[in-house]
Amino acid sequence: MSSLSRDEHLRMVRSVRQRLESLGRAGVDRIPVPVPAAAPPSSLAPVVEASPPPAARPELLPVEPRRPVAPTPTPTPTPARTPQPTPATLPAPSLFGEPDQAELVPHAERPALLASLAAEVTVCTRCPHLAASRTHTVFGSGNPSARLMFIGEAPGADEDRTGQPFVGRAGMLLTDMITKGMGLDRDDVYIANVLKSRPPENRDPEPPEIANCLPYLERQISIVRPEFLCLLGRVAAQNLLKTALSMGRLRKKWHRYQGILTIVTYHPSYLLRNPAAKKDAWEDLQMLMQQMGIARPSRKKE
Ligand code: URA
Repeated sequence: MSSLSRDEHLRMVRSVRQRLESLGRAGVDRIPVPVPAAAPPSSLAPVVEASPPPAARPELLPVEPRRPVAPTPTPTPTPARTPQPTPATLPAPSLFGEPDQAELVPHAERPALLASLAAEVTVCTRCPHLAASRTHTVFGSGNPSARLMFIGEAPGADEDRTGQPFVGRAGMLLTDMITKGMGLDRDDVYIANVLKSRPPENRDPEPPEIANCLPYLERQISIVRPEFLCLLGRVAAQNLLKTALSMGRLRKKWHRYQGILTIVTYHPSYLLRNPAAKKDAWEDLQMLMQQMGIARPSRKKE
């Protein structure tokens, strides 16, 4: 600490304070602190971008409640946060590896920023062939302050017709995964796609189409700034994580996208074609739920 300049020291103190206040507002009253002990099971150890994974089992220490930096505006959509005891296997959050809280978009500003980005997408002609063939762009939907964001591949026929993501057969399965599997409401989460326009005949998105559309998704993620990303299928996983690794190599471990804890699972369309893989997807969801501190619903939601 003594090697830090005064400015660096103040910045660090401010960053820690803001992080603790943010956690407090999210209902967290304890944080895991590494102590020398057994490492968490490797299947739960995150792959961290810049810093090594925690080598120690976290212990729970109380966090003093603090005064918020700024008053929370009343019309802000309520973040879908479920205060839960932090599971012992939760990897220690990186207090310094995440963006300064001041860089986060205030909750109250998110709906307008998303609406303005959606308006940009609506008139986008970066892929003239897709702009010509689409009925609607499909921007995304859900809670602008969601803890969890799902990212799929591209709209299909039902999404193109309605302008809403995941409303066809694959969408019904995704909804079941969210509601019956995780015990959340669809409105608790945010759902988006890599492509905002339907590729004709539901073909795979082509690399130039992805390159054209990805900046919209990147801006969308930076506005919502969820705590967790769930990437549905190869296209979302490879393009956000900038990797050519197969689904087999990407599943069952934690990744970070821009500091956000990220998990990869099968795309619901794949699960419809390969129902035997639903068991694996359920394991992925359980890994996600454990990390989020969400208890498995005792009875499946109807
Ligand atoms: N498949 C996707 O990847 N996204 C949708 O919105 C619908 C189906």
